[in-house]
Amino acid sequence: MSPTQPSGLQPEDRPVPFEPAVALDDTGSNDSGRVFVLDAQHQLLLLDGRVPHLDDLDDPNEAVPFEDRHLLGFSQGVAQWAAHVPSEAGGDEATAFVADGNVEWVNLRAAFGALPEHDWVLAGRASQILRWDAEHRFCGRCGSATSHHANDRARKCERCRLMAFPRLNPAVIMLVERSDGHALLAWGRQFPQRFYSALAGFVEPGESLEQTVVREVKEEVGVDVGNVRYFGSQPWPFPHSLMVGFQADYLDGNIVLQEEEICDAGWFAPDRLPPVPRGKMSIAGWLIEDWIQRTGS
Ligand SMILES: [Zn+2]
Repeated sequence: MSPTQPSGLQPEDRPVPFEPAVALDDTGSNDSGRVFVLDAQHQLLLLDGRVPHLDDLDDPNEAVPFEDRHLLGFSQGVAQWAAHVPSEAGGDEATAFVADGNVEWVNLRAAFGALPEHDWVLAGRASQILRWDAEHRFCGRCGSATSHHANDRARKCERCRLMAFPRLNPAVIMLVERSDGHALLAWGRQFPQRFYSALAGFVEPGESLEQTVVREVKEEVGVDVGNVRYFGSQPWPFPHSLMVGFQADYLDGNIVLQEEEICDAGWFAPDRLPPVPRGKMSIAGWLIEDWIQRTGS
C-alpha cells in the first residue's frame, strides 16, 4: 500500500445507497418513509433499537408535521426525513406519540456501532440540517424572519432576500509522520482522560487546506511539516464540521506545546501507542489504522 493510499475504511469505499433530495416529486408521498427524530439536545429517537418509520408513530402528522419536516433524500426509494421535537430531552411528552415499542433517546456519538453505519451517517446529516434550520430563523443582515426556500436547502429572508445555506465549518486533521516510522500524537485538552490523537484545527478564511495543516501543527506543537497529502474526509456533525484528513512529513523543530490546547504530545512507534482512537468511527481512527498497517509489524 502506498503512503497516500487510504486503507479502505472510508465511507466512500462502501456502498451508500442514498440519493439526496430537498423536495418530493409529484409521485412522492409525505406520509411514508423513515424519520430521524431529534430532540432539543440532539438525541436521536430509536424505536426497538432502530430508526422508526412514519407509520410507527401514533399520529405522524401531529408528531412530526409535514411542514416542519426536512426531506433528506431517498435510500433505495424510501424517503428519509428529519424532524425536530421541541420538548426537552427524551421527555415523556416527546415519547408519547410513538406507538408500541421500546423507545430510547440516544446521543449521536454513542449511537455509532448501535446503528447500521449508513443510518448513523444519515442521523448526522439530519442533526446538521435541523440545527442549521433552528439557528437561521432570522436574517443575519436585517433581522427579519426567514422561510424555507422551495427548491434549495436554504432559508430566505422575506425582506432583503438574503439566503442562508446549511453551515459547514471545514477542519483539517493530520497525522504527522517521521522518517523513522514514528508519528506525532497529541493529548488535547478536550479529552479529560489521557488520550492521544492526530492534531486538528479549523480552516481560517483565506487559507488553503494544506496551509491550515502547516499552520496548525506549528501553532500547536511548534514543528515544521511539509509534503502534505490528502487522505480522506468525513462529515462530522458535532456540530457543523467537515473533517478533511491529511498525512504530512516532519521537517524540522522540537515539540513546544501550545499549553492552552495541548496537554502533551510526542513521537510514538506503532507498537508503543498510548490510548488512541481506533476503528471506523472517526477519521482520526482511520489515519492511525492506516499508519499502523503501513509501518507496524
Ligand atoms: Zn434580511
